[in-house]
Amino acid sequence: MKNKSIGTKCVQAGYTPSNGEPRQIPIIQSTTFKYDTSEDMGKLFDLEASGYFYTRLQNPTNDYVAAKIAALEGGTAAMLTSSGQAANFFALFNICESGSHIVSSASIYGGTFNLISVTMAKMGIDVTFVSPDCTDEELEAAFKDNTRAVFGESIANPALTVFDIERWAKAAHAHGVPLIVDNTFPTPVNCRPIEWGADIVTHSTTKYMDGHGAAVGGAIVDSGNFDWMANADKFPGLTTPDDSYHGITYAEKFGQGGAFITKCTAQLMRDLGCIQSPQHAFILNLGLESLHVRMPKHIENAQAVAEFLENPPAVTSVSYPGLKSNKYHERAMKYFGNGGCGVVSFELKGGRSAAEAFMKKLRLAAIETHVADARSCCLNPATSTHRQLSDEQLIEAGIPAGLVRMSCGLEDKEDLIADLEQALN
Ligand SMILES: *Cc1c(COP(=O)(O)O)cnc(C)c1O
Repeated sequence: MKNKSIGTKCVQAGYTPSNGEPRQIPIIQSTTFKYDTSEDMGKLFDLEASGYFYTRLQNPTNDYVAAKIAALEGGTAAMLTSSGQAANFFALFNICESGSHIVSSASIYGGTFNLISVTMAKMGIDVTFVSPDCTDEELEAAFKDNTRAVFGESIANPALTVFDIERWAKAAHAHGVPLIVDNTFPTPVNCRPIEWGADIVTHSTTKYMDGHGAAVGGAIVDSGNFDWMANADKFPGLTTPDDSYHGITYAEKFGQGGAFITKCTAQLMRDLGCIQSPQHAFILNLGLESLHVRMPKHIENAQAVAEFLENPPAVTSVSYPGLKSNKYHERAMKYFGNGGCGVVSFELKGGRSAAEAFMKKLRLAAIETHVADARSCCLNPATSTHRQLSDEQLIEAGIPAGLVRMSCGLEDKEDLIADLEQALN
């Protein structure tokens, strides 16, 4: 599948049945796998042979789907996790430990912000957040001797900031550490961060990849491009023997293309157990089969909605990277060639009461704390996710009280616009 184009990979990569095998990916609904001898099984435990023994670590259904996502992103290896949160935690914790430091874009998903700044801080992992629009000097100043990873989101949820992947990758590599990019919003159909220098790519597959609001999940992809051995002192977990696997050194035994995901599976999945269920992996794969057909429609709808919202006097501002007026338009064209995702945010005159009244009137877009669904949905952060903040705090956080985030689904754009029009009136 390496030389096939993205749509063909969406449909067929990851699973190739042999003569007489099921055409569709089989759901291997089994916690365990049977062996004839304990020697056979022992080899699996020692990572001497590859195979399955317990679904907390690996399951064939998941691996077919992970292989498809690796092909889509242009990586060498991938794994599925139970959620996007687990994917970002595993990707970071696979190379960070107590005493490590992370440089992260400040404009990221709230859940990831809390994960890094609160929960990982309790584990002794320190972070410096930097604006995605910082100067080179500000970015440079964020690095410390104990920095082990750089993190950002290709399009931030919900701020819709576009991340300059190439620039941040160069800065990370100059300091001998990898760049991890959460590529949930654009998906590999619109952006493949590895092509711009990212080393590890993560996903909340809950969003566009599933695309039907049906299954929570996550994924981690390794580019195979980061040379762990050349930076061995920084990453002892990959470059020195693992006593829990008879002294295997991951970067030696599995090479540059396999070390990261093997260690993440063998240690983190074994010990923390955030596996995606094979049922969810099957549902995720159904979503992936149409990802390349759905993404252009989400973007067409978002572009039309954003352009419509530039005119009504009740709307004070619209944010969508596909708009020429958007601060990130040029960067979005470079990395995505379009607006990049189906999410648009806009501010209504009259603050939270206007936003609430407006959303109540919408007939197609339902009020939900979700995005990237086939069905359009919307949210007013001031009365939901950010309701503990005062008006002043909301403005400071860049989320004015009248802000509405709308995720444009797969309905026809004429109907979405007509719905917005009647609600605004
Ligand atoms: C939703 C989301 C997450 C978290 O994913 P879950 O599947 O909800 O755990 C992480 N990153 C981004 C960009 C997201 O939109």
